[in-house]
Amino acid sequence: MSSIKTTVPYKMYLEENEMPDKWYNVRADMPVKPAPLVNPATGEAMTAEQLEGVFCKELVDQELDNASRYVEIPEPIRDYYKMYRPSPLVRAYKLEEALGTPAHIYYKFEGNNTSGSHKLNSALAQAYYAKKQGLVGVTTETGAGQWGTALSMACAFVGLDCKVFMVKCSYEQKPFRREVMRTYGASVTPSPSMTTNVGRALNARFPNSTGSLGTAISEAVEVAVTTPGYRYVLGSVLNQVLLHQSIIGMETFVACQKYGIEPDMIIGCAGGGSNLGGLIAPFMGQKLRGEKDYRIIAVEPASCPSFTKGVYAYDFCDTGNICPLAKMYTLGSSFIPSANHAGGLRFHGMSPILSQLYHDGFMEARAVEQTAVFEAATQFARTEGILPAPESSHAIRAAIDEALECKKQNIHKNILFGLTGTGYFDLVAYQQYNDGTMIDRIPTDEEIKAGIATLPVINK
Ligand SMILES: *Cc1c(COP(=O)(O)O)cnc(C)c1O
Repeated sequence: MSSIKTTVPYKMYLEENEMPDKWYNVRADMPVKPAPLVNPATGEAMTAEQLEGVFCKELVDQELDNASRYVEIPEPIRDYYKMYRPSPLVRAYKLEEALGTPAHIYYKFEGNNTSGSHKLNSALAQAYYAKKQGLVGVTTETGAGQWGTALSMACAFVGLDCKVFMVKCSYEQKPFRREVMRTYGASVTPSPSMTTNVGRALNARFPNSTGSLGTAISEAVEVAVTTPGYRYVLGSVLNQVLLHQSIIGMETFVACQKYGIEPDMIIGCAGGGSNLGGLIAPFMGQKLRGEKDYRIIAVEPASCPSFTKGVYAYDFCDTGNICPLAKMYTLGSSFIPSANHAGGLRFHGMSPILSQLYHDGFMEARAVEQTAVFEAATQFARTEGILPAPESSHAIRAAIDEALECKKQNIHKNILFGLTGTGYFDLVAYQQYNDGTMIDRIPTDEEIKAGIATLPVINK
C-alpha cells in the first residue's frame, strides 16, 4: 500500500464560528430572473396573498424575493445547524489514487445527520418559520423518504405536527424509512390514499397505482389547504429551498478559501435542483458577476432526464394539477419515470432558478445510466469508505469520469462535487447491483413526447 503525501488535510473542517450566518440568494445576481409561479386558473403570476394560503408567510416572502443578495439566518436555525454543521469538505485522496488521476477530487459531505441527506438544511428552516407563524402542523410528500425523514426530525425539534404522504411503492419497499419518520412523531400515509379527493379519484381510475411524487404532492397540498392551522412544505424545486441550501455552498466557499482550493468544476446530482443550487450558489454568483469562471455540471438519471430531454416551459408541479405552474425544464407532469432506485431524482421538473441558469448557458447537464451510477458508488465505497446514496452517486459518476478525462489528457483539475447523502436505506438497490439484476430503463422518444404533449395550454 502506498502512502499519500498530503498537501491539504483529508477533512477540511470549519470551526463552528466560521459557519456562515447568511444564506446567499443567487437570484439577486441573475441577469434574467427565474419566471414567476403562475396561477393556472388566471394565467397571472401568483400573488403573495394567494401563495400564503398554501405556504408559510415568511417562506412566501423568500420565494418572491429576487432582490436581497443575502438573507440572515435566524439564530435559532443556526443553533440547529450547529448540531450537525459545518459539514466536512473532504479530499478524496484514496479515490484519486485508485483512479491514477492527476486531478484533485473534493466532496462536500451532507450525510452526517440521521436524516442522511442535505434536506435537513431546508427542513429546519421551514419548520422554524411555520412554528414562528403559530401553525399547528405541516404536510408534505416524500418519495425515497429522505425529505420526509428530515422534516419529521425538524418538526420534532420545534414541536409541530407533521403529515407525510409517501409514494406507495416506497412506503412498501422502504418500511424502515417509514419507521424512522414515525419515531420522530410524523404520521405517514401511503399515496395515493383514500383520505383525499385527489387520492380517491386516482385510486378509482388506476386501482393498482403505486403512486408518484406528483400525486403525493397533490394530496399533501389538498390536506394543507383544507385543514385549519396547516401549511404545505416542499423539500426541493422552490426558490426558498435553494436559498436555505445555499448554506452548503457558503461553507464550501469559506473552506476553499481557508485551504487555498480553486475548483475548476463543480458537480452535483439534480432531482429538483436544491443541493446543486445550494452548492454552486456563491460560485455561480461570482460567475454571474463576471469575477470568476467555473464549469458547473448537473447530473441527472437517464430514466428521468428533465434537463437533457425536457423542454423549458410552464408546467404543473403535481399530477393532480392543483399546484401553481412553474416555468422549468420538464418532461410533463404526467410523465411517470421508471422505478429508478435514485428515488430522490425522479421528479418530472426542475428548479426554476437552475432552469433559467441552464437556459442562459451558465451551466451544463448530462444524464447517466443506473448501472454506471452504481459502479461509481461501489468504487467510491471501496476507496473512500462512505456508502453513498444512489442520488449522490450520480455526481460521483460524473466526478470519476472527469477525473479519468484528466488522466487521459494528463492535466490537473480541481473537481468539486456534492455528496448529498448516505445509502443505508437503499440496500435493495445495492443488492440488485451486486446480484447483476439491475437494469437501465431509459424512456423512449415516444414516451418523452407523450409527457410533453400534456403541458398546460398557457405555453401555446
Ligand atoms: C432528495 C435528494 C437528492 C435530490 O434532490 P435535489 O433537490 O435535486 O438536491 C439528492 N440526494 C439526496 C441524498 C437526496 O435525498
